[in-house]
Amino acid sequence: MTTHKHQIVVIGGGTGGIMVAAQLLRARKGLDVAIIEPSEEHYYQPAYTLVGAGLMKKSATVRKEKRQIPKKATWIKDYVETIDPDSMEVILRSGDVVAYEYLIVAPGIQINLDGIEGLKEAYGKNGVCSNYIDPDYTWEVLRNFKGGVALFTQPATPIKCPGAPQKIMYLTADHIRRNKLEDKTTIVFATPGTVIFGTEPFKTELKHYVNEVYDVAQRYGYKLVKIDGEKKEAHYERLALPEGRTDYVHNDDTNRAGFKGYYPENGQIVEFAEANGPLNELKEGARFVIKYDMLHLAPPQSAPGWFRKTKLANPDGPDKGWMAVDKHTLQSRFYKNVFGAGDVTDLPTARTGAAIRKQAPTIVKNLLAVMDGKDAAYEGYNGYSSCPLVVAHNRMLLAEFKYDNVRSSDPLLSKFFDTGKASYPMWLLKRYGLPFMYWNMMLKGYNF
Ligand SMILES: Cc1cc2nc3c(=O)[nH]c(=O)nc-3n(C[C@H](O)[C@H](O)[C@H](O)COP(=O)(O)OP(=O)(O)OC[C@H]3O[C@@H](n4cnc5c(N)ncnc54)[C@H](O)[C@@H]3O)c2cc1C
Repeated sequence: MTTHKHQIVVIGGGTGGIMVAAQLLRARKGLDVAIIEPSEEHYYQPAYTLVGAGLMKKSATVRKEKRQIPKKATWIKDYVETIDPDSMEVILRSGDVVAYEYLIVAPGIQINLDGIEGLKEAYGKNGVCSNYIDPDYTWEVLRNFKGGVALFTQPATPIKCPGAPQKIMYLTADHIRRNKLEDKTTIVFATPGTVIFGTEPFKTELKHYVNEVYDVAQRYGYKLVKIDGEKKEAHYERLALPEGRTDYVHNDDTNRAGFKGYYPENGQIVEFAEANGPLNELKEGARFVIKYDMLHLAPPQSAPGWFRKTKLANPDGPDKGWMAVDKHTLQSRFYKNVFGAGDVTDLPTARTGAAIRKQAPTIVKNLLAVMDGKDAAYEGYNGYSSCPLVVAHNRMLLAEFKYDNVRSSDPLLSKFFDTGKASYPMWLLKRYGLPFMYWNMMLKGYNF
C-alpha cells in the first residue's frame, strides 16, 4: 500500500473532473492537482444520440484520456473505493491511499439494470436498446426496424440528460419517414413525467413535433415496472397526476398500425382507437401492458454505489445517496474543503455536461477562496442546464433553463437565432459546434 499526497484531488476524469481541474490550473499557477480516473478513454456522451440514429460513428465520440488530462495534473489510474472525509483520504481499489487537502467529487452516475424487473435479461436483444448503454446497438435495431410499435420510455429515477429519451424518438420518427414506414408504424412515448418538457417556449415547440409532425401516442404518469423481453411487452403502473389532471393518454384517438396493449388484470386487449376512453378512466395504481416491436429506454440511474455509502452523500430524504452540495456555491453541505460537480450531485436541475460548464467557474472561485482562508461565498451557479433537442435529421432547438424551469437562453446566440424554434443552424451547432467546443474549449479550461 502506498500513500500519495496531493493538495487538490479530483475524483473522475469525465466532463466535470477535467473541466474543473483545467480551469483551476489556469486560474492559479503552481497548484498540485491529481485526477483519479480508471478509464483510458474519454467519451463525448452527448453525441450518443446521433450515433444511435446512424448520424455519427461511435469512434468519433472517443478520445484518449491521457490527452484530456491537463498537462500540469497528475493522473492516478485507478478506481476510488471510498472516501473518508474526516481523515481527508481517498481509498483506491489497489489499496493505495490518496491524502488530500481539498477534494472535487465528479464520478458521474451509475446505470442500474437491476432497477426494473426483467430489464437485465431483456436488454441487448429482441429490439431492446438504449443510447445510455450502447448507441451502436440502438442503430442496429433502428436500421432493421420494418414497422410495428416503436416504444420510447424512461424510468422514474433521475437520469442524466433527461431530454435524451425523446431526442432518439424524434430521430427514429424521422428515420421511419425517410424509409416510408410511417403507415406501418406506431410511435409511443411513455414517461413517468407529466409533460413533454417543463419550460416554455420549448414545450410548445416540442408539443408541435409530437402531436402534429410525428403523431406520437403519448402516455404520461406511466411508470415502467417490468419488461418481458421474450413476449416483447412493457408493463406500466400509473402514478398520480398533478392536481385535477386525469389525462394520462394523449394523441391516441386514431387507429394505429400494429398496436396491441392489455390490462394484466383480465387480459382484455385494448385497441388504440378506444384508448382515450377506457385508458384515461383507469386511475392511479392501475396497470397497463404495451406490446412493442422495438423499445428504447433510459435505464434506472443513481449515484455510484460506493459513493452512496460515504459521508458526503445525503443520508436520507428524496435525494438519498446523491452528493449533498449547496445549490449555488457547490460546496459540500457537510465538509468545507469538498466540492461536487456534475451528475453525482443533488442539484435540482437537469444533469448535463452543459450544466457543468456553468458549475466549473463557481467551484474554482469558491475553492480558491477556501484555500485563501475565506468562505465559499460566491453563489454563482443558478441551476443553468441545457438540452439540445434534435427533432429531425437536420433540425434542433436549444432549450436553456435555470432553477425552477425558468428559460435562460444565451443572449448572444438569441440575437442571431430563435433558439426556441427547431432550425437547421441549431442542428449544425449540435453536429459540429458543440463537439468542437467540448474538446477544444470546455476540456481545456476556458471559461466562456
Ligand atoms: C445518451 C446521452 C445523451 C446526452 N446528451 C447530452 C447533451 O446533449 N448535452 C449535455 O450537456 N449532456 C448530455 N449528456 C449528459 C452528459 O454526458 C453528462 O451529464 C456529463 O458527462 C456528466 O459529467 P460527469 O463528470 O458528472 O460524469 P462523466 O462525464 O460520466 O464522468 C465520470 C467519470 O468518473 C469516472 N469514474 C467512475 N467511477 C469511478 C471511480 N470509482 N473512481 C474514479 N473515477 C470513476 C468515469 O470513468 C468517468 O470518466 C448525455 C448523456 C447521455 C448518456
